[in-house]
Amino acid sequence: MTRHTKIVATLGPASRDPLILETLIRAGVDVVRLNFSHGKAEDHIALAGSIREIAARVGKPIGILADLQGPKIRVGKFADGKITLQANDRFILDAKCELGNQERVGLDYKDLPGDVTSGNILLLDDGRIVLEVERVVGPEIHTVVRHGGDLSNNKGINRQGGGLSAPALTAKDMDDIKTAAQIGADFLAVSFPKSASDMYMARQLMLACGGHALTIAKIERVEAVAALEEILDASDGLMVARGDLAVEVGDAAVPALQKRMIRMAREKNKVAITATQMMESMILSPTPTRAEVSDVANAVLDGTDAVMLSAETAAGHYPVQTVESMARICLAAEKSILIKLDREFLDRIFTRIDQSIAMSALFAAYHLNVKAVAALTTSGSTALWMSRLNCGIPIFALTPEADTLTKMTLYREVFPLLMTTQDQDRDVMRYEAEQRLIEAGVVKKGDLIVLTYGDQMGLTGGTNTLTIVRVGDQARPTH
Ligand code: PGA
Ligand code: MN
Repeated sequence: MTRHTKIVATLGPASRDPLILETLIRAGVDVVRLNFSHGKAEDHIALAGSIREIAARVGKPIGILADLQGPKIRVGKFADGKITLQANDRFILDAKCELGNQERVGLDYKDLPGDVTSGNILLLDDGRIVLEVERVVGPEIHTVVRHGGDLSNNKGINRQGGGLSAPALTAKDMDDIKTAAQIGADFLAVSFPKSASDMYMARQLMLACGGHALTIAKIERVEAVAALEEILDASDGLMVARGDLAVEVGDAAVPALQKRMIRMAREKNKVAITATQMMESMILSPTPTRAEVSDVANAVLDGTDAVMLSAETAAGHYPVQTVESMARICLAAEKSILIKLDREFLDRIFTRIDQSIAMSALFAAYHLNVKAVAALTTSGSTALWMSRLNCGIPIFALTPEADTLTKMTLYREVFPLLMTTQDQDRDVMRYEAEQRLIEAGVVKKGDLIVLTYGDQMGLTGGTNTLTIVRVGDQARPTH
């Protein structure tokens, strides 16, 4: 049985060793997340190189998601890497401080002291630490600790209720977009977008740097929830970024928002990633809590394309066990879904030929009860459309394009396979597609498959043909 929901794992000190990385990939990671809030450009470039090498060795396409820091307001670094705050301690957020200690820490957003006033509640590290502002003195925000805990380098700061006014794409983000393009990242996650124009801008910058990544809007601001539809129209997908979102809108509002966001993404032919604290206790424990098991399963039932791990794989004690647990929870949740082809589908109007073929293929596959749907695709859009319907039949997306191959790692139910022939002849391609599916152990002689392709191979958006073939009936083309 194959898992349909994808796993995104954030890399960090606990996972960047090539041996661990390989084990994680074999354990089920589909997409790795490079978190640009940490590390230097050369670290990310080296890591991307190492991922590609391992992916080639393992023979599994792995997507790379570059996650921009965005205008997240963060504390600076500490001389000792971290401190521990106790309730009622006094603590100063100081725009001028270089290296933090028990008394004060620096700020990456120097204008923060101008944005807060006495009585404001500041939440650090996704709300784990709560500070109340007593007064602002020039570049210093004097606070009293309401809720203490460990505070380490570069943790985020939010104000309860939102509304801090940092610009959408920072100078650092613009540099990082260049690095992401250089790496050839498959996905570019934009942090804290407030509007569609933030997403357009990120895409334009990325294209100008020669990048080809799909853009993912991280929904983590009150303003983004209000502008969800237009933001989604301007992006290729969204991330339910529950860490910051919960702080901004209140934690209790998040589960319903998660369902709404995933539904809206699917309806608009976009992808959805559900993120943050999914297996949080596994940072320190080899087994998940019951609540975490339910959370991952519920995201699968909500229809998410992917579930994401953050500190669990970046800095946790049990990165491999976490991925293994997540994979098995996804699989069990998928098995429980009663698959019924969406009735609304019957009323849909298609504007494009390739989209009509994608939908017809699924319709036929569902009613014929075939083993697999296979799409010969150049851009991957045929596979994306097929995967929006959730008909429970695995979709094998065969492409000769390396960039398309790794982009499809995020699509639920889609299994990307690389075509190696350089031949553009239709019969040769069809024959190789069959061979790939047999090699992958998906089908055997005599099985029925539904196959889509374009009469004119290699043309983006050119899918116009649907055939139903019995594996092995086609002889090897002789020309
Ligand atoms: P982050 O984004 O991990 O970059 O903060 C995810 C979230 O806020 O949930
Ligand atoms: Mn965030």
